[in-house]
This record gives sequence, C-alpha cells and structure tokens, in this order.
Amino acid sequence: MKPKETMLNTLLKDKKVVSSNLSSDEIGNDHVSANIETPLRDDAFDMSNAEKIKKIQSYFKEIMETLGLDLTDDSLKGTPERVAKMYVQEIFSGLDPANKPKIALFENKYQYDQMLVEKDISFYSNCEHHFVPIFGKAHVAYISNGSVIGLSKLNRIVQYFAKRPQVQERLTIQIAKELQKALNTDDVAIIIDAKHLCVSSRGVQDGNAATVTSFYGGKFENDATKQEFLKYIEMKTQY
Ligand SMILES: [Zn+2]
Repeated sequence: MKPKETMLNTLLKDKKVVSSNLSSDEIGNDHVSANIETPLRDDAFDMSNAEKIKKIQSYFKEIMETLGLDLTDDSLKGTPERVAKMYVQEIFSGLDPANKPKIALFENKYQYDQMLVEKDISFYSNCEHHFVPIFGKAHVAYISNGSVIGLSKLNRIVQYFAKRPQVQERLTIQIAKELQKALNTDDVAIIIDAKHLCVSSRGVQDGNAATVTSFYGGKFENDATKQEFLKYIEMKTQY
C-alpha cells in the first residue's frame, strides 16, 4: 500500500478531520475536490427538466442493456424512467438554483448573543466520483450578528447542497459560505460526519470508516468557542 493511502485510511478510521488538513495530493486522486463551486456547464439549465428526464432515461436504458439486462422484464422496464426522475427531481435537484431555499431572516429580538447549535441534521448525498450515496449528520452553529434564521432553514440549506453529486469537503464549505452570506456574519461552524458507500460497499470495503470534515469561521476560530461547539455536539440531548 502506498504511504498516502495508509495515511488517509488511518485518518478515516480515527475519524479525524480529513478535508481541511490534507492537500489534494495526500487525499489521493480518487477523492480530490478542486473547487468550492460545483463544476457546472454554461448550458446546465438550457434544457427543461422534462427534456433532461427523457434524455437520462434513454441513456440509462442503454447502460442497463449494456450490462445485459432484459428491459422487457416487468420489474426492470420502468427503471430507466424511475432513475431519470429521481436524478432530476430528487437526489440531484440541488444543482438547480431555482430550488435553493428562500431564506427569511428575523430580528434577534431576544438579544440572544450565544451560539446557536442545530445538531444531527440528517442528509443524503451522492459521491461525485462514483455516484453512490454519502449519508450522515451535519452539525451547524452560528452566532447571531443581529438577525436569526428559522431553524428548519438550516436543515433545508444542508439538504439543498447535499442534493448534488458531491465531495464532502465541498459540501461542508458550500453550506458554511451560504450561511455566512445569509446571516451576514463570519461566525459559522459546521461539522459533517458521514459514511461513503464508495468506501464501504466497494473499493476498500471498509464499513467502519467515517469521514469528518469541519469549517470554523470568525469567532469559531477561537479555541474556547470551538471547544464549546464541540461539547454541545457530544452532549447527549434529552427529549
Ligand atoms: Zn466516491
């Protein structure tokens, strides 16, 4: 095994922060995230959703037939259309800016000036290198700069960026940047703890590995604030 693979696996097993501390070379050439923006073509939205579904349906049918599957079978014949609809309308719907959650801010009337933590936000995404699921929990925190955001919007922002072909590092940064912009503050922190089926169900087939990525902006770069956030995430909530 090459040294860089050993290093990545060790980090994955220890659930240490993988993204921000490793260069793309250390991460290895199968999981490089090159850009904060999802790489989209200029003509990404020229076609309507209905046209995209039709096209993907015919391509997916060809993939299935190439694999040797008999598409006249009752159980299989609807699959190309199901997959095409699922791609466009569900699991990759976050590619389309039209689906971005509308964010309404409220005045921070309570003068609450501590951090707000929304933890254990479930999300489902897909690895852009293998098109298999990534799923896990996101923990999001911010310190109000005079305005507050509806709690469910935090979930919706996480889910919007998750519904794209993704790498976890980019997902983390996209959520953080969006929150910083929406809340007009740098004081945002994110931790994402996720399973990648491309690691567990194929390749090295390590079912125990989890990947943790983090983002600490503004006041969260201060060690005490960061530790407070981490303590809330570890805290067992009673309900
Ligand atoms: Zn992958």
